[in-house]
Amino acid sequence: GNIGREERVRAVIDKARDKNIPIRIGVNAGSLEKELQRKYGEPTPEAMVESAMRHVDILDRLNFQNFKLSLKASDIFMTVAAYRQIASQIEQPLHLGITEAGGLRSGTVKSAVGLGILLMEGIGDTIRISLAADPVEEVKVGWDLLKSLRLRSKGINFVACPSCSRQNFDVINTMNELENRLEDISVPMDVAIIGCVVNGPGEAKIAEMGLT
Ligand code: SF4
Repeated sequence: GNIGREERVRAVIDKARDKNIPIRIGVNAGSLEKELQRKYGEPTPEAMVESAMRHVDILDRLNFQNFKLSLKASDIFMTVAAYRQIASQIEQPLHLGITEAGGLRSGTVKSAVGLGILLMEGIGDTIRISLAADPVEEVKVGWDLLKSLRLRSKGINFVACPSCSRQNFDVINTMNELENRLEDISVPMDVAIIGCVVNGPGEAKIAEMGLT
């Protein structure tokens, strides 16, 4: 969308084809074409999909299929609806994201809900977590999301108690300490940190390592 007129798109495509580099069509609800803003009155999933398909048509005319596509909004409902619609219309990979999702906590929750819904439906090939936070946190959140959905296995999957009066040791501090110390481990492993024997043995049974 930022490249502009079709002849400028053509120049970019010529170079991409020449170098065999894929490109991404990136539609953002906040920067839809003026004409679509007038037609729909406000950003909608349909407006986002129409914007995307205009760019897909340009690439079709240029006989260039080496692209992926993203349809980002900061609103979960709009993003999910837009991706669901486009997923049935094109075969190219989809790059998922809830854009400008918010701070570390709120943006993580929004991203997990929005991307989680889509990934559970089999929609999406790559992801970006967009947080107003250290970009390193975006990567960590992304991995945790993929691990939670069992789409990737890397590093420690922790099972740990919340605050509870039955705990025989400080589970929360132990959990935080281990999470920091073990964050460089890439071997997939389940670790259970359970505060008492009520659930400890049962939870530890499914883990490679248990602390209770
Ligand atoms: S396993 Fe024990 S300490 Fe942990 S939440 Fe359950 S009752 Fe509380």
